[in-house]
Amino acid sequence: AAADIGIIVSLCKRRGFIFPASEIYGGLGSTWDYGPLGVELKNNVKRAWWKAVVYDRDDIEGMDGAILMNRLVWKYSGHEATFSDPLVDCRECKGRFRADKTYELDCPRYKRKVAACSANLTEPRAFNLMFKTQVGPVEEDAAVAYLRPETAQSIFVNFKNIVDSRWRKIPFGIAQIGKAFRNEIVPGNFTFRTREFEQMEIEFFCKPGTDADWHAHWIEERHNWYLRYGIQAENLRRYVQQPEELAHYARACTDLQYRFFPEREDEEKQWDELEGIANRTDYDLSVHSKGKHDKWQVHNEHSTQSLVYRDPVTNEKYFPYVIEPSAGADRATLAFLMDAYSEKPGPDGEPRVVLKLHPALAPIKVAVLPLARNKSELVEKAKAIKADLQRHGIRAVYDDTAAIGKLYARQDEIGTPFCVTVDYDTLGIGKTKDGAKEEDAPASPAGLLDTVTVRDRDTWEQVRVPIAGLRDFLADRLGT
Ligand code: ATP
Repeated sequence: AAADIGIIVSLCKRRGFIFPASEIYGGLGSTWDYGPLGVELKNNVKRAWWKAVVYDRDDIEGMDGAILMNRLVWKYSGHEATFSDPLVDCRECKGRFRADKTYELDCPRYKRKVAACSANLTEPRAFNLMFKTQVGPVEEDAAVAYLRPETAQSIFVNFKNIVDSRWRKIPFGIAQIGKAFRNEIVPGNFTFRTREFEQMEIEFFCKPGTDADWHAHWIEERHNWYLRYGIQAENLRRYVQQPEELAHYARACTDLQYRFFPEREDEEKQWDELEGIANRTDYDLSVHSKGKHDKWQVHNEHSTQSLVYRDPVTNEKYFPYVIEPSAGADRATLAFLMDAYSEKPGPDGEPRVVLKLHPALAPIKVAVLPLARNKSELVEKAKAIKADLQRHGIRAVYDDTAAIGKLYARQDEIGTPFCVTVDYDTLGIGKTKDGAKEEDAPASPAGLLDTVTVRDRDTWEQVRVPIAGLRDFLADRLGT
């Protein structure tokens, strides 16, 4: 079973993955800063996603759009009018909640669960989630802009640019990773729901009629991606949205849900969305095209382009259908952390945390450790090995700030797959007793010169590997 979020929050703070943001000023509700290890982990999650969807396929292009966009994008996408959650106030505790969710929060006034005082609620009212800001120095209506609440729209408005500049034919997709902002009514549960977060989105364009097959393809692909990078099958499931839950333009949507709340008694409440994979039909490219679109009851008077696609072979014209796998980089990072968490008794009998992250996601791949820090030959050799690994693209660190057993424990706790130890046998000098002369040292066993010990995080097994073959040995086991 995975750890619950509380355990992960404290591990993250203790070991430099994620800190409460603006902490020394008392924080700012539900904002988080990724620390030295968190930034590496999240970058690795994003890299693994990009590799799977852009590099390992031939039918996806990448892009990176601006966060601030012309307000008209949000007018025609429908966000200005409808990107809202139903907000209710509790007349008793004065709390504000989403009417479409159930809460297990403590009521600040009555110090009990919100459900207990939720009988006295106002009627729900629509609360738009977009953060408004102003572009330019003068406060005037024309300068209103929003921080994007999703990355998808810059993909849609660049559809034609990418088709034209990259000679793309349908079917193909566009992928983007970037920040999105939503003024959530009730953020919380660590990085699960925040007001600033990162999305990893694909908009996959296909011919109407092929959309159901592509939808099934992407559900399969995305599900397998999480399993490949270490999520345990029993903690991931598919939830097919019911017709009444779908956005008005969507034909279907399947959510990949992760068991984010294993501590909840009601098994149904343990699950929440990790990624949504929607069939958005031809809504997006239609509404951003100039002209009247009766199907969507939209008349676009501002767009300068038509995003209609002309099949180069048949000359047939149509608005492509869109399959959208939309994932959260922060939620994925949290799920990988929760799933990797394990404890087992250490050599001293004390419980030891071992973060069994997939090597491709681990913030640090290899820690190179000298057996003793007061022996300059050991230190120099270890530093040289660290530098060589790093030069060849393997994220490695050097550490000599504690005894070897403690250094191993620290690396287990942060998920480092391998520790490399440089000892006396590596140098062929044998270990001298304190005060003894070096020439009195016992000879090093034959065959160990220029070899190091490699320790595996998960099995704690140690093998002796020649330094000359170390890079290949590690690269074979680190995977991508
Ligand atoms: P919810 O119903 O939980 O509010 P949503 O259905 O509105 O989520 P989408 O619009 O489908 O979410 O966003 C796609 C993905 O972006 C989500 O699956 C999630 O991983 C991520 N995401 C959305 N909102 C947030 C948030 N406030 N904080 C962190 N990640 C988020």
